[in-house]
Amino acid sequence: MIELKNANQLVLMRNAGRIVAETLALVREYAKPGVTTLELDRIAEEYIRAQGAIPAFKGYNGFPATLCTSINEQVVHGIPGLRSLESGDIISIDCGALIEGYFGDAAVTLPIGDVGEDLQKLLRVTEESLMLGIAQAKIGNRLYDVSNAVQTHVEANNFSIVRDYVGHGIGRAMHEDPQIPNFGKPGRGPRLEVGMALAIEPMVNMGTYEVQTLKDRWTVVTKDNRPSAHFEHTVAITENGLEILTRC
Ligand code: MG
Ligand code: MG
Repeated sequence: MIELKNANQLVLMRNAGRIVAETLALVREYAKPGVTTLELDRIAEEYIRAQGAIPAFKGYNGFPATLCTSINEQVVHGIPGLRSLESGDIISIDCGALIEGYFGDAAVTLPIGDVGEDLQKLLRVTEESLMLGIAQAKIGNRLYDVSNAVQTHVEANNFSIVRDYVGHGIGRAMHEDPQIPNFGKPGRGPRLEVGMALAIEPMVNMGTYEVQTLKDRWTVVTKDNRPSAHFEHTVAITENGLEILTRC
């Protein structure tokens, strides 16, 4: 069941979204060659707690950290640790926060130092696919219109879209109905209506869309070890149109 949010709930979701956006903006400033992913995680956790919020991922199904930090061939759910970022890496930073009972969730993939043109294109196309998907999240459209817009743009650029992980509704729980695949035929799925809050999050691979999970039971990597990028926003469909709650 898709839970619709009223105007009061939307106020709380805006606040959660703002904290996530600000956290990502802060982490971006520190994401330079030489920094460890654990240092980025500490910066994020400190900021979220200073806002009176709770890091939403920490403890979620036993996940040990505030951020998911996924480097290069890692797709999502990378665990922060002592690995230092190097020039030429790309890193997906995924962040969630909980405040006053409501969740925000967003991700960006950042280039570290000098990154090759092929990786720059991967980042650009992934972010564009997110924005094209978001543009379809309007009243009267169907959910898979979002999915199809993402897939079409990704595949037109000869990249592939991950199948095994999807976006989700969000609100009083981090993961609510509906699931939001990043692929599929348009014109299907539930009709989009005022009050829906959605976390749309394409994961785009340079090679095969197939992924696998490492022995740490969290880190998802591409099967062919080629790079992957991930962007996510929490959005709400309001009476005044679409609102991106996690925009910086
Ligand atoms: Mg999410
Ligand atoms: Mg996320």
